[in-house]
Amino acid sequence: MIRAAVLGYPVAHSLSPKLHAFWLRKYGLAGSYTTKEVRPTALKDALDLLAEEGYAGCNLTAPLKELALPMMDALDESALTAGAVNTVVIRDGKKTGYNSDGFGFLESLKAQCPATLFSSIVILGAGGAARGIVAALRHKKPQRLTLVNRTQRKAEEIISGLSLTNASATGWQSLTTALAEATLLVNCTSLGMTGNPPLTLDLAPLPSSAAVCDIVYRPLVTPLLAAAGQRGNPAAEGLSMLLHQGRLGFRHWFGTDPAVTPELYTAIKEFAK
Ligand code: NAP
Repeated sequence: MIRAAVLGYPVAHSLSPKLHAFWLRKYGLAGSYTTKEVRPTALKDALDLLAEEGYAGCNLTAPLKELALPMMDALDESALTAGAVNTVVIRDGKKTGYNSDGFGFLESLKAQCPATLFSSIVILGAGGAARGIVAALRHKKPQRLTLVNRTQRKAEEIISGLSLTNASATGWQSLTTALAEATLLVNCTSLGMTGNPPLTLDLAPLPSSAAVCDIVYRPLVTPLLAAAGQRGNPAAEGLSMLLHQGRLGFRHWFGTDPAVTPELYTAIKEFAK
């Protein structure tokens, strides 16, 4: 039986076991996907044990994603550019690290906002998720990419690390100007997430044709998504990204590219509340 798992500390909140269990059932595959609580100091041993026990791989969640980078035998470009591993594939005892955030984001956008133009992009945030998403978006060759972050240095590091041209880093004070020209706005901060401070944003300058994405998925409809919906902007939800990013690991481990369907969305939505 093919086995995979999600490792994190803590890990009980992860939706990945529900997601993979749904797909294993749907495709009638005899596999398993379990959770393993792993402290950061025990990550290397835990990964080695998975390889010894013949696991096909695992997902990694906070705070293990960056720590795993030097523990891989090989890194896919997605993990290198994101600076973090969230999917590990084990073949013949060798571990390859991937990062599926960028893939999940683009697939979710394709599914939920298919008419999105990538000419002028505004990204809020410069943490781990922003890095993976910006790395994927650069292949869309935006004419203008603005990274807005409280800690401007982190936005500058993403730009220089990815050698981005046509990109600039700014603080929140310049947001109004950037929004006025945006064709795509993405919230990659943790603001607006249940238990965190709200994301306070006036969308008035944003063209109503611009796509709005919030990668936060608790709550499912964030105040940003609600505001975008009210003014008629096309919008993509964080849960959609989460479901799509899970496809990469499932495909590598279990050999099937699973579908993100309305039935899956409904099933997982219940657990995301
Ligand atoms: P992270 O690395 O901790 O980054 C957090 C970001 O939020 C940073 O840019 C940080 O700014 C900003 N931020 C936090 N508190 C702030 C405040 N009070 N005021 C202004 N900015 C603030 O986290 P991450 O891994 O990138 O994740 C970000 C969010 O995305 C989380 O809610 C996570 O659950 C979600 N996420 C969703 C998916 C999905 O599949 N849908 C995937 C990954 C992550 P500073 O740099 O200034 O600290």
